[in-house]
Amino acid sequence: MLEEAAVEFPVDKRLFALIALALMWTLEGWLPFFHEFNERGKRYPHAGRNLAVGAFNAAVMVALFAGLVVYVAAGARSAGFGLLPWLGPHRLGLPPWAETIAAVLVFDAWMYLWHRINHIIPFLWRFHRVHHSDPRMDVTSGVRFHPGEIALSFMARIFMVPLLGISIGQLAVYESILLPVIMLHHSNIAIPPGADVALRWIIVSPNMHRVHHSDWQPETDSNYASVFSWWDRIFGSYRWREDYRAITFGLHEFQDEAWQTLRGILKTPLRKDE
Ligand SMILES: [Zn+2]
Ligand SMILES: [Zn+2]
Repeated sequence: MLEEAAVEFPVDKRLFALIALALMWTLEGWLPFFHEFNERGKRYPHAGRNLAVGAFNAAVMVALFAGLVVYVAAGARSAGFGLLPWLGPHRLGLPPWAETIAAVLVFDAWMYLWHRINHIIPFLWRFHRVHHSDPRMDVTSGVRFHPGEIALSFMARIFMVPLLGISIGQLAVYESILLPVIMLHHSNIAIPPGADVALRWIIVSPNMHRVHHSDWQPETDSNYASVFSWWDRIFGSYRWREDYRAITFGLHEFQDEAWQTLRGILKTPLRKDE
């Protein structure tokens, strides 16, 4: 079971992510929400930096931690440990697919909580602000995370996976949904406003996540959900606005171009706060 899961896990989700990324990038070229983000000479350098950070995270961080997550998940499942096996099909008489739906929902709720914690605890925010300091927002912003944040997220996941008792197969299903949704809600595609509102009833739409990337703190500290928009509605952190085109992306203190180079991105957690 361990070997099978180890092979299955990274291949699927990376493929889904790459297909979604290529598709969104193409659509952004044809139908951009902010036309200025497609300016010649700016779109590619911006994407290049974000993709370089994302590729490093995918190659190095996932190689370091993904195997450990698989190991911990398989160990917990075979011991029958964790919330989901406890609630699971045997106890409630539900089919296995129902447990997978429960696993997807429970893990998405954890992702909401973890994201919110990243905005509250100053040490975690130092790393997470790399995702927010991007002054332009397109599909490549969806992979712009400091390697330190990825490492910290994996460490938290190593505890949460056995506590929830989520299997590697269920985690793979969740991530196969999560990654394309992340690509979609960061993308600079001009989705008709009515379609964005409709999408938002179920998943995090581009306009909903644009508010999260606003440089105005009450908006930065809102709309934390990853896949399902419900968590923000349930826990009172949902925000919307009328004029999504007037949003200024980024963080005031990282507007200087020096923070947007690869070196600047990697040094962002070390910046002293005045
Ligand atoms: Zn955030
Ligand atoms: Zn984001």
